[in-house]
Amino acid sequence: MSGSQSSGSAALAYPGRGLSILACHWPAPTDLPQFCSCGDLDCPTPARHPSAPSPPNDATRDMGQLSRWWQAHPAANLATYTDPTRVGVIELHHPAKPDHVIRLLNSHRADPCPVIHAGPGLVQFLVQPDLHAADHIPAADPNAAHNGTVTWLAAGTLVLLPPSRLMSGERLRWMRRLYHTTRLADAAPLLAQLAEFIETGALNDLHPLLT
Ligand SMILES: [Zn+2]
Repeated sequence: MSGSQSSGSAALAYPGRGLSILACHWPAPTDLPQFCSCGDLDCPTPARHPSAPSPPNDATRDMGQLSRWWQAHPAANLATYTDPTRVGVIELHHPAKPDHVIRLLNSHRADPCPVIHAGPGLVQFLVQPDLHAADHIPAADPNAAHNGTVTWLAAGTLVLLPPSRLMSGERLRWMRRLYHTTRLADAAPLLAQLAEFIETGALNDLHPLLT
């Protein structure tokens, strides 16, 4: 799943790693993205919503269905859904460089887990689902908003996957690859570690504007 991999070949590779996939709208036109391919100029979630009405467009691991979607729309973005049994996602919102976030986690011996750079200031961690995940996140301190935030995505949340493109033209990318959803780390220790970073402002030392 290199950076040059097409959306279609990525879509066909993910089921082998345990993910169900669905096709989403994409930034159009391809060379100079200006609007969502759904054609609604006021699209509330540009390039990040399913490209066909549910239920036919439910996420699937059916290679035939995935082939048909991407043959019809090679530029389609791709996504999966968080679910209560296989895939959970923690989001970190912070302007620190994602490489630095990972280095800091490594230095604290956090369990390695797949990591997506999902756009400016947004890093996503794939972990085992945890029904009590939200309980591990301390209430946000409004005076420390610059310290960033950690969010647990509820089951059933649409999550774009690399190499989907954002409206900026930027592509999502894996910072640490997904081997298989059966090998995801527990959510609680990572949530606790990220919450500690937020609480202590540890990530701010890595802020690109401050270093
Ligand atoms: Zn749209």
